[in-house]
Amino acid sequence: MKKGELVKIKLIGILQCIAMYCSLSTVAISQTPLSPQSDQALLRGIYKELVEINTTDSVGSCTIAAEAMSKHLKKAGFDQNNINLIIPDGGPKKGNLVVTIKGKNSLLKPILLLAHIDVVEANREDWERDPFKLIEENGNFYARGAADDKSMAAIYVANLMRMKAENFIPQRGIVMALTCDEEKIPSKFNGVEYLLKNHRTLIDAEFAINEGADNLVRSDGTKVFVAVMASEKVFQTYTFEVTNPGGHSARPRKDNAIYDLARGLVNLGNFAFPVQLNEVTKAYLEKMSKFETGQLSQDLLAISKNTDSKDVFTRMSDNPYYDNLLRTTCVATMLSAGHATNALPQRAKATVNCRILPGASVEEVYQTLQKVVANDKIKITPDHEAVKSPPSPLTPKIMNTVSSVTEQLFPGLPVVPTMIVATTDGRFLNNAGIPTYGITGMFKDANGGFIHGLNERLPVSSLFEGQEFLYRLTKGLVSE
Ligand SMILES: [Zn+2]
Repeated sequence: MKKGELVKIKLIGILQCIAMYCSLSTVAISQTPLSPQSDQALLRGIYKELVEINTTDSVGSCTIAAEAMSKHLKKAGFDQNNINLIIPDGGPKKGNLVVTIKGKNSLLKPILLLAHIDVVEANREDWERDPFKLIEENGNFYARGAADDKSMAAIYVANLMRMKAENFIPQRGIVMALTCDEEKIPSKFNGVEYLLKNHRTLIDAEFAINEGADNLVRSDGTKVFVAVMASEKVFQTYTFEVTNPGGHSARPRKDNAIYDLARGLVNLGNFAFPVQLNEVTKAYLEKMSKFETGQLSQDLLAISKNTDSKDVFTRMSDNPYYDNLLRTTCVATMLSAGHATNALPQRAKATVNCRILPGASVEEVYQTLQKVVANDKIKITPDHEAVKSPPSPLTPKIMNTVSSVTEQLFPGLPVVPTMIVATTDGRFLNNAGIPTYGITGMFKDANGGFIHGLNERLPVSSLFEGQEFLYRLTKGLVSE
């Protein structure tokens, strides 16, 4: 057999595999009621277009993405007066799009559908595939923003177009805001902050639906629960800095900025903040104890009942998915030091990013960090002022509507309130009196789709399930 033939046979095999996978995933998809084929095709096109517009802070433009989305809505028949492209002064690439559908009852406040269209940086060399091309492979969409958060943004646009085609007029108005700079903290062009400050009436709402809820699916494809994210951790970044007179590298001394900083960081790496539960995490762990098995199930139940067993916490620390819910975390994320190969370092600097539990004191975290590094030479300064975010109340309207849509799409699956270990733009809305809930209808595994990381992905089935879920949810929420 010639080498070429072998390659050909292998290729056919791979194609068959892909085809088989496709037919399998179609079967899996077809078990859940989905939007009509034409709406799925519409979403696929919008999603691809949005993902392939680079919206990173370095070289991308949210304005181009917002303009592209506004064109679809205009074409679908939305009145120009209800399409607002809002570009902040001094930030020409930081555009936001706000689109409204008026409700019949003007006494009712609208609901806000929020998604951010900016994405985290992605280096082509580090990725297996081009991060700015939507690539469908092995039942997943791969691209930067495939999950976070262009899936939701594209779904909103497609769903609004579907509603327009149906001449749907809700009781309560619908406002969709696609915003910029969620991924950049702090940013003077954060779209939600900017809109609240300068166009509050445009986005004012009874409550908001946002990213941040990952419905859990096991690696074997079993769906575990539908999440309502009602609480989030507080984001706070610190700079750790050591300065030193330095000198000639041929004459090293005991004190060295790099070594001082490194020792402090090793201490931090070995340290764990204490376990602290709140109502949402307690309820969540208790529910999860029923879905997990064996020792993990027992440990989760024990933690939800306030155990103080060291063994339980040690086992849990090997499971970052749960462990990060239990405590504040602080981790070194960036490092720089020195100024010449032949000089002792005059400066060593690290960035440490903390995710603080909603009930914990930011000031106490700062004091704890000082104790942990245990070296006066390491100067710790906060990079910005932390924005706290009160938990959103789990109202019957939200919970009943989510339960009802869940029962229609995923019969028998529980709805579980969750806390996100990260931060979303919901913090600005929560502080402005607009309770915000992470509800996506999309399922991800415990890795969360590698968002912010390499080879970000979203299961193909999740995108289309999310489309129909959010369509029904939106309609349910604005029917009264
Ligand atoms: Zn996001």
